[in-house]
Amino acid sequence: NHEWHLLSRPVGWPKPEDFALVETEVPQPREGQVLVRNEYLSVDPYMRGRMSAAKSYAAPYELGKAMQGGAVGEVVASNAEGIAVGDHVLHFGGWREYAAVDARHAVEVDPEAAPLSTYLGVLGMTGLTAYAGLLRTASFKEGDTVFVSGAAGAVGSQVGQLARLKGAARVIGSAGSDEKVKLLLEEYGFDAAFNYRNGPVNEQLRAAAPDGIDVYFDNVGGDHLEAAIGSLNQGGRIAVCGMISVYNNTEPAPGPRNLARLIQTRGRIEGFLVGDHYDLQPQFVREVGPWVRDGRLKYRETVVEGIENTLEAFLGVLRGDNIGKMIVKL
Ligand code: NDP
Repeated sequence: NHEWHLLSRPVGWPKPEDFALVETEVPQPREGQVLVRNEYLSVDPYMRGRMSAAKSYAAPYELGKAMQGGAVGEVVASNAEGIAVGDHVLHFGGWREYAAVDARHAVEVDPEAAPLSTYLGVLGMTGLTAYAGLLRTASFKEGDTVFVSGAAGAVGSQVGQLARLKGAARVIGSAGSDEKVKLLLEEYGFDAAFNYRNGPVNEQLRAAAPDGIDVYFDNVGGDHLEAAIGSLNQGGRIAVCGMISVYNNTEPAPGPRNLARLIQTRGRIEGFLVGDHYDLQPQFVREVGPWVRDGRLKYRETVVEGIENTLEAFLGVLRGDNIGKMIVKL
């Protein structure tokens, strides 16, 4: 068994020396546990937060121990009722090849119903994040003009397509390369899209949304958030999902300078965590599952192979190497 340990807490951009790939015995499942041979690992931006000691919604990773994360794999030994050898489960023992997991924390998934990797992405945590954030936190309604940042990523690409499928007047996305922008326009059906590296975000947004925006789904923070406030219409809603542009900062980033616009627009900014919205999971799968199956909602995955490349895959997410969900295949 190989597993990734955190050796020291990164300051700024994580460095390879902060981590180690360690060889250990395959763990033995205790009573009530199953042993899973992981097939797909998830690497996600929030993991950067868990590498820091700062108090947050998820406990910091412990130094010198295996890190955790979403994973799916096959049960190869079972000491738990209800889960048998050969079953596939979604669980939290990622960043390693073999995981002994409590059966009550493992969710059975069906590899016949959908490709296993999609339970980490389009039909999993990032999919539900898009669904809950757009529909519940941002109170999306038909006829809204929606702007989403990180729009070629796992969450963002699903937000834009959900908005389109649910009757948005106009969907606008931003991403960090011309190739990603092309994908948004040509494959995902965005009405407008821009590369935030090509010019000031506020100017590019104003050109893409001359009549303003009703919803901003924020994955990025920083100048994107300020630009969105600047383009917000009356009664506009901003769902704060993530702020990836600040995750590696060593100093607090300056706040948006135009918050006063929230007064005249009666605008609302609200953060959310997907973990609070799992009551929507059945509705999400019922509604979005068929769209994924029949191709009306498209998704991409960037698949990196091998446990030894898991750290690079994670760093790749912070750099923007990925299109759609970043997945590690073992
Ligand atoms: P993505 O698949 O979107 O990958 C992250 C992307 O962020 C990269 O591909 C990169 O794309 C972009 N990015 C990196 N640095 C910057 C920057 N400085 N400015 C703008 N864009 C940048 O990841 P996810 O879909 O998993 O997550 C998207 C966001 O949602 C993250 O902020 C994450 O923390 C948040 N999140 C929040 C959850 C919640 O419960 N609130 C749950 C899940 C995710 P590009 O090439 O376009 O720069």
